[in-house]
Amino acid sequence: MQIQRTANAGILLELDGKRMLLDGVCQGVGPYLPTPASIQTMLLQQSPDALIFTHSHPDHYDGLFVAHYMQNTAGPVLGPADIPWANPEAFRLDTIQITPIPTRHIGKADNCAHHSYVVQGSRCLWFLGDASLLDWQKNADVPKPDVIVAPFGFLIGRGWAYCKSLGVKTVVVVHMPLRENDPYCLWQQLEQTLDDSSGVQVLIPEIGQSITV
Ligand SMILES: [Zn+2]
Repeated sequence: MQIQRTANAGILLELDGKRMLLDGVCQGVGPYLPTPASIQTMLLQQSPDALIFTHSHPDHYDGLFVAHYMQNTAGPVLGPADIPWANPEAFRLDTIQITPIPTRHIGKADNCAHHSYVVQGSRCLWFLGDASLLDWQKNADVPKPDVIVAPFGFLIGRGWAYCKSLGVKTVVVVHMPLRENDPYCLWQQLEQTLDDSSGVQVLIPEIGQSITV
């Protein structure tokens, strides 16, 4: 599968001949960067087969882009019901099953509607969004992943122990700021994980970068 990071916490996923944009267009929030205009243009010209959103926070979602996409294509938009045009149900894209898993957003008092996703084709990808680790871990019966796309919290402490316990081969880290503008010192905290010789491949693509996993 091919993954291009196109946003702060989002990717363009190519799997089994389909192109899915997951939280793939966003606005800038604090140190978290927006989707560059050049990538937005590329995404509108080469319309993905589906737009998929975990939640409506601006560092994961751009409603204007969705409106443009809806003008150009009849492709589906998936997401919690508070996102305009979004279908909150499980969805099949030919041979690929996209299953939303309602999860709690990380943080104490955040009640925003939030879905994580299991994308199951010839391989299985978990796209966790801003899911709380403790809440996500209750989902013991979802198919085991080949690849996890996760934010920082799944790469440290209990989150990292959990990822390793799954036997996953690759974890793609998103929702990272630039190293040179990192007020929360996320990169520094990740160093221990990056040194960990546990056999899990950890990839942190820059916005715009494509990787094959
Ligand atoms: Zn959020």
